[in-house]
Amino acid sequence: MRASLPQAIDLDTVREATQKYSTLQRAIHYTRFGTWYMMKTDDSEDIDLSELTAIKAVRDELTVHSDNILLRNHRIVLPKGLRQRAIDITHEGHQGVAKTKSFTRTKVWFPGMDGMIEEAVKNCASCQTLTPEFRSVEPYKMSELPSGPWENISIDFCGPLPSSDYLFVMVDEYSRYPIVEIVKSVSARSTIPVLDKVISTFGLPKTVKSDNGSPFQSYEFKQFAENMGFVHRRITPRWPRANAQAESFNKPLMKAIRSAHINQQNWKQEMYKFLRQYRATPHTSTGQTPYRLLFNREPRTKLPQTSEKSVELVLDEIVRTRDSEAKRVMKQYGDQRNRAMIRGNKLHPVYDTNPRRVSDKKGSMVTVDDSVTCNASSFKKISDHVRSDLMDKVMLKFEDEDLKWPESKLPESSMRNPIDASPKQCVSVSPKDKATPSVTLSPKTPVVRRSGRERKQPVRLKDFVL
Ligand SMILES: [Zn+2]
Repeated sequence: MRASLPQAIDLDTVREATQKYSTLQRAIHYTRFGTWYMMKTDDSEDIDLSELTAIKAVRDELTVHSDNILLRNHRIVLPKGLRQRAIDITHEGHQGVAKTKSFTRTKVWFPGMDGMIEEAVKNCASCQTLTPEFRSVEPYKMSELPSGPWENISIDFCGPLPSSDYLFVMVDEYSRYPIVEIVKSVSARSTIPVLDKVISTFGLPKTVKSDNGSPFQSYEFKQFAENMGFVHRRITPRWPRANAQAESFNKPLMKAIRSAHINQQNWKQEMYKFLRQYRATPHTSTGQTPYRLLFNREPRTKLPQTSEKSVELVLDEIVRTRDSEAKRVMKQYGDQRNRAMIRGNKLHPVYDTNPRRVSDKKGSMVTVDDSVTCNASSFKKISDHVRSDLMDKVMLKFEDEDLKWPESKLPESSMRNPIDASPKQCVSVSPKDKATPSVTLSPKTPVVRRSGRERKQPVRLKDFVL
């Protein structure tokens, strides 16, 4: 067994080692230029041809990362110099062959990886001493997967340890995320505060499952469950394996601690090392890491990875989109309310208060002051008692683009002044009365709109003074 702690591998280390390994350099070259066919004629002495052939077999999955690192899908193809170190890392905590392979596969790949892992575990003294010859069968009664994480948890005790401590083990049945707390005794009095602490961190589960151990039969525990509002389900002694979740975890946990004991290592540190690995290893049942299923993201591990965002990206995008959408709606609501208040204060009238004289009407089109023809809906007839003479007088409606809401949902081309979009609605006609001054209308200083565009004077108003 390697006594020294294997150091984490970062991307710089991978880059440097890749640079020194000519076989991988050649693979990068072939991948980059799509020239794997040239391998046949490659007889350079510094190239390991069997290795190159194994890499070629997966060439459809290969890409070259911008850092000049070869990737097989999202996994880094490790150069020879780093492979043993990677396995030392992934076998920390002494998970078995399957789990060690599974954990290694989360981040890296290289030819002959599985065989190398099998060999490493076979040669690991701790694993040899502590693993029984025959494989223990998977527990036969597995409970149904809860609908989400942290709804049902199993609790159990391990120990006593040589230090006379006990381990209070809690496993989430959905994510298989384990939590281990060191306790001095198995009494309800020492158990409840620990459960309290865990609940405060992860929230209240719906159901807590345990065996019939004495702390779980106590009145205090019953009171605690009632008070907190979770169902305490006790497994009958006739079928102790029904509490399989916690028990199947306890074995490798105790193996890690025993290994620490044999090797005179700090058992707590070794236990946390094991927990770190276990939580980051895809679980056989779910195919996902417990960590991901509980926290919705992958943890960073001692193995290198190219993009730390790769897994979180989708989730992050969702969060980001939701966040910006919520802010947008809030802003629109605020803006609309502000405008409503301004209008309510008569700072923004709906109609131009300067009355226009109707000079012509054709169907729905109305001409005012012999100069502007608009659809009738753009005018408001001034009511009879306001009229000073017998001629029809109207007020011209301000185009209220601000009410075209929500603006950001419209494509850019339609985000302009609504009047520009419907030029046929209003047309200017040459004023018959040349005495009517034709002036550029206010505002003279262009108003910068939210979209950053200048506010244009509607064409139909160009002959008016507002
Ligand atoms: Zn081992």
